[in-house]
This record gives sequence, C-alpha cells and structure tokens, in this order.
Amino acid sequence: MLIDGELQVAAGGGRFDVVHPATEKVVGQAADGTVGDMERAVGAARRAFDTTDWARDVEFRYHCLIQLADALERHKEQLRRIVVTEVGCPVSVSRSQVDEPIDEVRHWAEHGRAFEYVADNGVHDTPMGPALRKIFYEPAGVVGAITPWNVPFYLNIAETVPALMAGNTVVLKPAQLTPWSGSELGRIVAEETDIPAGVFNVVTSNANEVGAALSADPRVDMITFTGSTATGRAILAAAAATVKKTLLELGGKSAHIVLDDADLSASLPLAAMMACVMSGQSCILPSRILLPRKRYDEGLAILETSMANFPVGDPWTPGVMQGPQISQTQREKVFGLIQSGIDSGARVVTGGSVPENLPVGYYVQPTLLADVDPNSRVAQEEIFGPVLTVTPYDTEDEAVAIANNSIYGLSGEVSGADVDRALSVARRMRTGNVTVNGRSHFGIRSPFGGIKQSGLGRRNGDEGFKEYLESKTVGMPA
Ligand code: ADP
Repeated sequence: MLIDGELQVAAGGGRFDVVHPATEKVVGQAADGTVGDMERAVGAARRAFDTTDWARDVEFRYHCLIQLADALERHKEQLRRIVVTEVGCPVSVSRSQVDEPIDEVRHWAEHGRAFEYVADNGVHDTPMGPALRKIFYEPAGVVGAITPWNVPFYLNIAETVPALMAGNTVVLKPAQLTPWSGSELGRIVAEETDIPAGVFNVVTSNANEVGAALSADPRVDMITFTGSTATGRAILAAAAATVKKTLLELGGKSAHIVLDDADLSASLPLAAMMACVMSGQSCILPSRILLPRKRYDEGLAILETSMANFPVGDPWTPGVMQGPQISQTQREKVFGLIQSGIDSGARVVTGGSVPENLPVGYYVQPTLLADVDPNSRVAQEEIFGPVLTVTPYDTEDEAVAIANNSIYGLSGEVSGADVDRALSVARRMRTGNVTVNGRSHFGIRSPFGGIKQSGLGRRNGDEGFKEYLESKTVGMPA
C-alpha cells in the first residue's frame, strides 16, 4: 500500500489471496489494509491538501502527471500481466484495460494545464454599487476513490488522475478481487514520480468496512465511485452524514433497439461481440436486445451464430476474446439469473452452461435467451455475464417503453438504416448515453454517466474534469 509517501504492509501484517480466474489458483497476495490504515491515509491526504502547494501549483501537477504517464508507459507490459492475471481479461482485448488509460493520463495532464481556473462573470448592480464578479474553480479537497474489479487499472486512472490534476489529494481503495492494479500504481507513483507524500495514497483491503470508512470520514470532501447500484446507495448514505460531494457511476441494464430497417448482419454480430469481450462484465453493455417481431427469427439466427462461435478460452492465448468470469461467486450469479430467465419462460437459444472444453476457470458459454419477458428478473437485473436477452416488439413506441422499463439509465443503442429516425429513438431513451449504429458514445472527450439509479455526475469531457472542482464566486468593487 502507499500511505503518506511510504510503501507499506497492512497494520498487523494481514494479507489476502489474489486468484487467477482462468486457473482458479492463488497466484499471490495483497496487503489487507485495516480501518486504521485507511484513517492514516485520509489523514495524510488531508494534511497534503491543507499544507502543501499541490492545490495551487498547476505546472508542478502537470510535471508530475507527465512523469507518471512516462513511468506507466515503461511498465506497460507488467501492468498488462497484472490486469490479465487479476481480471482474466484476454490479452487480445486488453487495449482498453491498459494502453488507453495510460494515454488518458497524458490527456488529463494537458486538459488540466489548459483549463481556465478563473472566469470573468462581469459587473453586476448591487445596493452597495457595481460589483465585479470573478469565478474561481478550485479543487474539491480530499477525494476518496473507490473502484471495482471489471476494468481496475482503467478505473483507478479514470477516478484519480483528473482528481489529482484538478488539485485534489486522493485516497484510492481498489476492489478486493483486483488489488494489484492499485498497489502497482501506488508503487510507481512513490518510486518514479515527484508526487509529494500524502497527495496520492492506495489502501488495499479485503474488507468492505475499509471502503465504508473512507466514504464516512469527515475529513474527506468528495467520493468518486464506480460499482454496483447497491454499493452506490450505501456510499451515498454514508456520504450524506457530512454532505460530501459524490460522483457515482453505477449499474446499467441497457437496451438495444433494433429498428425494422436495420442492417442486422452488421449490427447483431457486433452486439454479440460486445456481450462477450469483457465476459459481459461491463456496465454499459446493451444486454437487452429488442427485435421487431417481423424480423425476430432472422435476428435470433444471426445472434446465435455469432455467440456460438465466439472465441472463449485461456486469456493468455492470442485470438481468444472472451476469458472467464472474475470469480466463482460471479459465475454463480450469472447462472442464477439465466435459470431465473428459464423459469419465467425464456428459451435458451445457445449457451447456458460451462464450456465443455474449459472445466477449470470460471468460464460461462456465451448465452442467448429468447422470448424474454421484459418484467422478469433476467430483463431487470444487471447480469454481468456474456448473456444477451431478446424480446420481440411490434411498434416503435412499444420498443421505447420496454427500453425505458428499468431502474437504470446508463446507456443504450439504436440500430436502423435511417439515421435521423434512429436518432429520434435515441432521444427518447431515458439514459445518459446512446450508441447509434455501432458508433460508440464512449470516449475521454465526451461526458459519460447515468441517470435514474445508474449514477450521479459525469466522467470524461470537460464536465468530467469540472466534477473535481468547486466554483467560488468572488464579488469586489468594480
Ligand atoms: P461487487 O459487489 O461486484 O464486488 P461493488 O460495487 O460492491 O462490486 O464493489 C465496488 C467497490 O466498492 C469495491 O472496491 C468494494 O470494496 C467497495 N465497497 C463495497 N462495499 C462498500 C461500502 N459499503 N462502502 C464503500 N465501499 C464499498
């Protein structure tokens, strides 16, 4: 762990196991940080924010983050080994897990350097005479960053680097299943950058109480979190006691509305691939496919072929695009939801069990469920597995209603030959993001986030940077 500039073990020396999901074997250990360790880390971040120039010295922050990007670049292949080992993500599709986040460090360094931290708000009439107002954008303070296990290195970067560049100090609490992506980032910060002691801290732990302690600590000004909606609610409740700012990116259950004029041979193989490449462990996955009834069988046949032939296997083998689920618990959850779908009348078109040639490792066959009732659990709960549900619809209004029949509002997709019509359907989806005809909404320069129970606030884009800043309006004699 990294606390107050020192790489250290947990108080009392506790450790917990790290398991490789493709072999089910313990491959090493991580420090099992305690609530006391978290309290020391928060204390260090508080002191660094209150007593150093970090919050005010943009050029120094830029220097440190470019140093960090260069150091991460040097260790890229080591970081890739860590991510593939912890997550079970295939090497062949690890670009978004490893390479892109390193580029994003540079992006945030440049963005934060160019950002206008002072804006002129003009002259305003007041009873005391004309007031000149200026708006100063200042860091939120101490930011607690809590990250999940599906894209751990990427999310560790996405949650902490814009916060740092905006002038905050940070305590990172990585997920239990993926501690090394966080501890290695801490090691690189400590040993290969000039980031001052206390500015960046990493506390790994096997206990949820340690994340809970971070979100409840009165010395923390803001919590940034990515993870399940259930945990998001707990964090929001804990943050309420001290009215902390929160940035929450939570679950999703996104729909893909396939319009009757869509090119199915283009959109559906892509939809199947998206469901499988991260073993379905992605919050933005459009996992509910809505097909026009008159093209239902045609669409199912294309999806079946794509999913039945998807390259599943050992994540280290080149060409493999779907690895295992991250843990046995997650795999059981996936099978439990598939079974609930069957129990509520859904039909398994392909998949539904463990691949015969992969008895070891937490693998799940790419699974296609047809005739899914939009109100059933499998259509309402986030599965986080390589599973697509398919439901037929008759009218465009009905498709939109099914898509919006969800507690979530993260993303969605529309496919159709008439782009204007597809866009008008996209506008009716109650979500924060929509992909039209496979052209992704997701990227560092575009705001990303959810509505409804998918979250609060936005990452990425200028909006994502401003989340880590507070505006201060100052009035003075004109
Ligand atoms: P999962 O249940 O799939 O592991 P979560 O959304 O629960 O995903 O976990 C994401 C992150 O939230 C992890 O780092 C985990 O340790 C942390 N966490 C879990 N429970 C809490 C809590 N009550 N307060 C703060 N953080 C928590």
